[in-house]
Amino acid sequence: MKKCAYCLKRSKCPYKKGKKHFCSKEHKTLYFENDIKILKKQIQIEFNRMITEGQPCAYCGKYFEKMDCSHVLSRGSCDHLRFDFLNVLPMDSRCHRWFWHDSPLEAMEWFKAKYPERYDYLLFAKNQFREWTAEELKKIREDVKNRNIKGLIRFYKEYELYLHKQKR
Ligand SMILES: [Zn+2]
Ligand SMILES: [Zn+2]
Repeated sequence: MKKCAYCLKRSKCPYKKGKKHFCSKEHKTLYFENDIKILKKQIQIEFNRMITEGQPCAYCGKYFEKMDCSHVLSRGSCDHLRFDFLNVLPMDSRCHRWFWHDSPLEAMEWFKAKYPERYDYLLFAKNQFREWTAEELKKIREDVKNRNIKGLIRFYKEYELYLHKQKR
């Protein structure tokens, strides 16, 4: 008897992938369609392509065949902003490595001067937190597919509200 990774019931579980066992084909599909880690990985590829496709490097302004999607606040420290349109820039691998990562202080000063609104939004957004759900990730995947930029600014509504409150 094995435990189905999706419904957690014990049965023969004839279906498997890696170390995971499933009671039915349907549960196997459902499990992988809703797996946060897998969804994040898949969407990151599509998201990064959207950010870099046909775009010049945000720093040097040149076009390169191969471009990187560079995060302002890293995925490691701000996982909740990994798909935030305002938290990423297209960069060629040279600027990404030698400027962006090797000179973080200069890089942040440059970013702040060039994109002051983004900088303010990120100051706000970095302290927001919302757990990723399969549901939200699937919505993000649709927004990437449809190039719905507004849908890809994750804390847009919260930020508007915050700005509104500040004006009063
Ligand atoms: Zn099951
Ligand atoms: Zn460049």
